[in-house]
Amino acid sequence: MKEEIKPIFKSGVVAILGRPNAGKSTLLNAILGTKASITSPKPQTTQFSVQAVFDDPRGQIIFTDTPGIFAKTDNPKAHDINLTAEHSLKEGVDVVVYVIDKTRERGIEENKVLGIIRKFDMPKILVINKIDKKHPDFIEQYQFLKEEFDATIELSARSHENINILIDTIFLFLREGEKMVDSEGMATPVLNMDSKLYLEEMIREKAFLRLRREVPYSIRVVVGNIIEKPKKNMTVIEAKIFCPARYKKMIIGAGGSKIKEIGTMTRRELELATNRKIFLDLRVEEE
Ligand code: GDP
Ligand code: MG
Repeated sequence: MKEEIKPIFKSGVVAILGRPNAGKSTLLNAILGTKASITSPKPQTTQFSVQAVFDDPRGQIIFTDTPGIFAKTDNPKAHDINLTAEHSLKEGVDVVVYVIDKTRERGIEENKVLGIIRKFDMPKILVINKIDKKHPDFIEQYQFLKEEFDATIELSARSHENINILIDTIFLFLREGEKMVDSEGMATPVLNMDSKLYLEEMIREKAFLRLRREVPYSIRVVVGNIIEKPKKNMTVIEAKIFCPARYKKMIIGAGGSKIKEIGTMTRRELELATNRKIFLDLRVEEE
């Protein structure tokens, strides 16, 4: 009798990371073939993080651009979690996809993102995006990264070039596993103390989007307490932006308008990603 060979079904969480405008949302859309998340032509536009699920016979990939916010799924507070398997979510991210834009020069901002990427010790895929755009071309500035990564893929998120190679590569690195999210709905991430670094970087990103370019480089974001209010399905986050005295007024803005904008952008993105109410207590202090 012929034995039936069952193909291995794989699953895992993939974090898409990269600096603003690298093309993360466009890449996610290209992968899904639908407009699942919002892309923005200008850095000034509000950008939301959207998790997405990619299903095919090889397995299931959960995409997020908000790593570090997955908490234990046996948390009673996370009641609307809809997981079908012994969730590998609590181990967090399985594969990191780092998107760089080869049409932009590497700068301080890129180095900071890279600093975060280096803290992840799971398989990492380098995506060199925007190959459809011949000029400008700073690909030489990124070549050295190839050695640090487990795979490098040159692609165009916009013209859908080599997207399938990326998917194949992700599946190569994913381990055998069951479906983590059923068709009914997605896992709801919960913020916890492990999320601090991520939250700090998110607030810094919003400050970057809203302030004059030189300002964000001189600021430091520190997240303090993260308090769960289960009855209200709410998370309270305390954060401070430390800055040189000369920038304080600029960051606060007229009547507090600037800091409010930064806070609102961060809160909206977090609410979308976590499906919870977020109260962000964001203050500015000089140092
Ligand atoms: P995110 O901030 O990393 O999510 O970046 P977006 O996905 O919002 O993309 C930022 C800008 O880069 C948008 O104007 C996109 O249309 C553009 N973009 C993204 N991917 C590509 C690409 O492969 N080629 C080109 N030419 N533009 C791209
Ligand atoms: Mg985006």
